[in-house]
Amino acid sequence: MEAAFRVIAAEIMSWYEETWRAWYQGQAPRRAKLCVEINDTGSATYNKREDAIFLPVRSGDVEDYASIVMPDGHLDGPKWRIWKQELVHEMLHEYQHKVLLTASTEGIRLHQTDARGFPGKGHDDLFYTAIVDKARYFSMAPEEFRDKL
Ligand SMILES: [Zn+2]
Repeated sequence: MEAAFRVIAAEIMSWYEETWRAWYQGQAPRRAKLCVEINDTGSATYNKREDAIFLPVRSGDVEDYASIVMPDGHLDGPKWRIWKQELVHEMLHEYQHKVLLTASTEGIRLHQTDARGFPGKGHDDLFYTAIVDKARYFSMAPEEFRDKL
């Protein structure tokens, strides 16, 4: 379990570092502290004050965590592993906080047309502007990217 977790944590960490560099290209001085840990009760968060992303891995999921996808087929197509879905969501909060000052017209529209929405604070026009900005990185239309998160 511990060995399996270390492999997963290292994979997640390096994916985050590589993606962060590509997303920011010098637009922010440093990336958030990414804390990946086995945790059965917490949920993924980006903490603005501490500039830290917390990414929980369920203990029961550690052995096969890297290959788990959402049960409802939500991540069909190029399948995203659940850690990636959660990490990208929190990275968008980080980007929203560090880089974006005003919402784009496209971001506002994407927010207004989101029938599903996201629970909790911070999912405002700026968050949707971050989705619009980063959809291209994953070669997706903004709507398609939004619906993966
Ligand atoms: Zn969120």
